[in-house]
Amino acid sequence: MTSADVIYNCPFVPAEWIKAHGLRPVRLNPRPSWGMHILGQIEGICPYALAFANHAAACDAGLVVFTTRCDQMRRVYELWKVCTGRPAFLLNLPTCRQSAAAQRFYIDELLRLGRYMEQFGGRRPTKPILAQIMLQANQDLETPVSPNRGAVPVAILGGPLMNTDMVLFDTLASGGAYVVFDGTQGGTRCIHRPFDRRELCEDPLQELALAYLDIPDVFFRPNDGLYRWLKAQIDDTAVRGLILHHYIWCDKWKAECWRIRQWLPIPTVVLSNDGQTGLDSPGIRNRLSAFLEAIR
Ligand code: SF4
Repeated sequence: MTSADVIYNCPFVPAEWIKAHGLRPVRLNPRPSWGMHILGQIEGICPYALAFANHAAACDAGLVVFTTRCDQMRRVYELWKVCTGRPAFLLNLPTCRQSAAAQRFYIDELLRLGRYMEQFGGRRPTKPILAQIMLQANQDLETPVSPNRGAVPVAILGGPLMNTDMVLFDTLASGGAYVVFDGTQGGTRCIHRPFDRRELCEDPLQELALAYLDIPDVFFRPNDGLYRWLKAQIDDTAVRGLILHHYIWCDKWKAECWRIRQWLPIPTVVLSNDGQTGLDSPGIRNRLSAFLEAIR
């Protein structure tokens, strides 16, 4: 890590905006054990939010960005300030995204982040520089997963996975399944749509903001965009079962699990993650194995 690195984890922090300021965006996939001594293990706080702050605190980066996507992250930002005394930025996000006022609010917050980055060696971007970085990002967008013949197509949805939870993909593969879409925070759900070429030439920051606000997320009110995205994924794939993942202290995903299960036309299994034993416990492996057997 260097002083030009900007650490974040929230999908609503645009990497292109950081790059346009001449800094390096580092989207952290936290390890639960890193930097644990800094903020400590605190009961009642989302283990992912805490792991992010602890891991970020253990890194020697120039700037860390938190967002107000959930109360837990807001709380961890406050703890960060008390426990580390190091600078960090709290990006306020609009809970509603449809109105022009909400969009303006988000753009103003990005501008405020930009000014903050300038204090840490960033330089104010010109429109052509931002537009060029966005065009490059369009080219880097991910290609779809190719079908794995003979394996059971499943999907994952829910809260972010920690570095150690990536074992979930291995567990599914060894159980004869493959993931047709990943709706967790690190998956395709949280990749912004391609930027509109014409719009970005006219006003790149506005197009950047609108593309990011189009990411279907559980925290928006209403969050019907999440369900539209989910329906499109189910219609486009032959998915046979959904794995719903949430942390024990995550109100956002925990509350949504019930509604998603009622609404979904395919079988689901819910994995509650305590952030310590994670997704590599015998109990979780057994549940996944039974689930795959049932939908095979
Ligand atoms: S998992 Fe839930 S509570 Fe934790 S940081 Fe994400 S949205 Fe917030």
